[in-house]
Amino acid sequence: MRFFSLFILSLFGIGVQGQFQAPSNFYSDYIRSAKDTLASPFFHGRGYLKDGQKLSAYHLATEFVKLGLKNFSPAPSYYQSFEMPVNIFTQHPTLAFDQDFLTCGVDYLPHPSCPSIQGNFQLLWIDTTHFQEPKKFKSISKRDLAKTFLVMDLPKPLPRKLKDVVENFKKNPFNAAGFIELEDNLVWGVATQASRFGILQVKRGIIGPHHKELRASVSSTHMPNFPNANVIGYIPGKEVKDTFILVTSHYDHLGKIGPHITFPGANDNASGVASMLGLAHYFSQPENQPKYSIAFIAFSGEEAGLLGSIHYIRNPIVPFPKTRFVLNLDIMGSEDLITMVNATEQSNAFKLLDSLNQSIGAVQKIKARGQAANSDHYYFAQLGIPAVFLYTEGSVKGYHSIFDTAEKTPMAKAGEIHELLIRFLNSLQTRSWKPQRMGN
Ligand SMILES: [Zn+2]
Repeated sequence: MRFFSLFILSLFGIGVQGQFQAPSNFYSDYIRSAKDTLASPFFHGRGYLKDGQKLSAYHLATEFVKLGLKNFSPAPSYYQSFEMPVNIFTQHPTLAFDQDFLTCGVDYLPHPSCPSIQGNFQLLWIDTTHFQEPKKFKSISKRDLAKTFLVMDLPKPLPRKLKDVVENFKKNPFNAAGFIELEDNLVWGVATQASRFGILQVKRGIIGPHHKELRASVSSTHMPNFPNANVIGYIPGKEVKDTFILVTSHYDHLGKIGPHITFPGANDNASGVASMLGLAHYFSQPENQPKYSIAFIAFSGEEAGLLGSIHYIRNPIVPFPKTRFVLNLDIMGSEDLITMVNATEQSNAFKLLDSLNQSIGAVQKIKARGQAANSDHYYFAQLGIPAVFLYTEGSVKGYHSIFDTAEKTPMAKAGEIHELLIRFLNSLQTRSWKPQRMGN
């Protein structure tokens, strides 16, 4: 950056003595371009196929080097390595109902925990009446279902009285070859375990009771020890070096299904990582050096169940009593609202962010939510460490689908939100700010 700014200044004939003021759109451009890069095909959806996660980790470590972030000794690098189990889809799947071939990602998805399925199967249509009429239920229980997929045509949400019976039925007591869930929206994920039987998600309306036969070819492999890593760097504080604020965001996403289907994860969470890089860029400028140290942690394994942050809290690099605050950014691509999770517990942090937003009008509103296990702040907060999670809401859709793309995630308020977060982080470093530590 130093070379870059000198170069720009000399281009415009401005004396280098004068304080360099980054143009106001510098950070929004920087953040958007970081988001575009992470969501590009090169990173294969930052998952477990084609080295997507590994390439992303390497890219982030390279960015940390460029920004001059330090790595924690004795670790020889920015990586904090761990292993995790994951079910991966190695081949392009094919699915046909009679003569109708379906398109993966658009018409259907194999459930993340789906094992390999090969062959032809009969279809049996199951609706609510099967759980309400004993005669109908009995007819299922008597059949040999080893070559049958059960199409679960049930309303969502389920009527309360059917919840238990359907949940038990989905444990597959009658040994069906598999289940087909009809979904209004196809939402994918990452599974750490493989199921014993097939599970497919098909978009509602694509298939009907007139379909008699399923031909399926799905190849998945369960990897018990997939190597993974969090990427961690820091900026030493000017005054209080041993106490840290953590800015965190998960860089992993869902990856790919075979070679052709990619989940780019632009909003979830290239946008959060890009926002974090914007903050790292800002605070790494000598004139912006923070008073406290700030560590930047790109977690992995979040989509598989917060596995990277669980590994971190079991092996903390900054001791918990020296962790002043955790700001977790996940889904930062929208422009209307920012929700703070764990805001009811961290009421001072909420009031602070809300009043800063009212003074600069970065977004329309800051909303408060209670604690939820929905991102990497969760276990920090459960340990009593002041930790919040921010996510945005607005025009960006496509959650956990192939449509969560860089083009559909413009980050319209990237610069404004960046400004808000800088003010927030600076306020957390003032003497008057008292961290709300819980349970001690
Ligand atoms: Zn996420």
